[in-house]
Amino acid sequence: PVVLGIESSCDETGAGLVRNGHLLGHAVASSMDEHARFGGVVPEIAARAHVHALGPVVRRALDEAGLRLGDIGAVAVTTGPGLSGALQVGLAGAKGLAYALGVPLYGVHHLAGHVAADTLEHGPLPDPCVVLIVSGGHTSLLLVRDLARDPVAHLGDTLDDAAGECFDKVARVFGLPYPGGPAVDRAARAGSPDAVAFPRPLTGPGDDPYAFSFSGLKTAAARWAEGHRGRELPVADGAAALQEAVADVLTRKAVAACTAHGVTTLVVVGGVAANSRVRALAEERCRAAGITLRVPPLGLCTDNGAMIAAVGDLLVRAGAPPAPLDVSVDPSAPLEYAALHPVATA
Ligand code: ATP
Ligand code: MG
Ligand code: FE
Repeated sequence: PVVLGIESSCDETGAGLVRNGHLLGHAVASSMDEHARFGGVVPEIAARAHVHALGPVVRRALDEAGLRLGDIGAVAVTTGPGLSGALQVGLAGAKGLAYALGVPLYGVHHLAGHVAADTLEHGPLPDPCVVLIVSGGHTSLLLVRDLARDPVAHLGDTLDDAAGECFDKVARVFGLPYPGGPAVDRAARAGSPDAVAFPRPLTGPGDDPYAFSFSGLKTAAARWAEGHRGRELPVADGAAALQEAVADVLTRKAVAACTAHGVTTLVVVGGVAANSRVRALAEERCRAAGITLRVPPLGLCTDNGAMIAAVGDLLVRAGAPPAPLDVSVDPSAPLEYAALHPVATA
């Protein structure tokens, strides 16, 4: 069947259509500009924006795929983690469509969506593979088997900030525009990665090889900026050095996890997988270690509905039970299974 995926966990409203592992069409609307003057996502504004965007985005995805509503055979929706009000808008829309069309509904974990995004470009994931999820709210190293059936094993997570959060917060201190990650990436092009010796947190001999920490790096970058008070801040150099530190730590640990577990495929997903230096350094280090690197295309790294449809499609084909119509959102759901049906079936 054609699976419609709906994503509304943060500030992107996404709809995607997937059949048998293939992306048929997708569309994304973002309320990013409405949050810019607040320097971060405002939950109430995000939820209202989803109300406006959801219908049109589903329509655009259908148009792109050359399909009609009646062609939809299942609906998958992000039920967590994310902003409660934002999630509820997507879920309400998904329930309405599933009920009206008489098709099954699947509640999907947002991070499983980020992982599945890669399958739309590169085909089924090998079992096992190591996945580095680097996004605005999460930074984790995972051992993934069959995404639709098996629990995901966490090799390590961040102990404090996510990598994307570090980019976003430091960008603010550097006076770069919101959202910070892409702004740091752009600014870094004109800078030198060796200009500042930022720390590489948790890379010492006694440290957990797969755990991350970015709050110290964030503080180091803020101190460095404060040290320039009264003088012009060499933003390009700071951005390049920050990006280098983040990319270094992420790729070093991801490659070490593959080597230690005898895994030959690394998948890097989430918004920060769009970072040019993360992509380049991952490529370089994987090649040196004989590891196959997979990274989704740029447009599928940040939040979108196609990735949620991709999970729904995997669940449908695995024969997973659908969610009951009284399923609710789980704003802080940990990633264990791709299907997220947190409420007992009625
Ligand atoms: P989560 O998936 O953890 O719930 P999220 O959905 O908000 O969080 P994503 O949409 O996956 O996160 O990614 C957004 C994050 O990616 C932001 O922190 C943003 O700054 C970062 N990001 C996007 N593009 C780039 C880039 N080119 N370089 C660095 N960071 C980037
Ligand atoms: Mg976003
Ligand atoms: Fe995300």
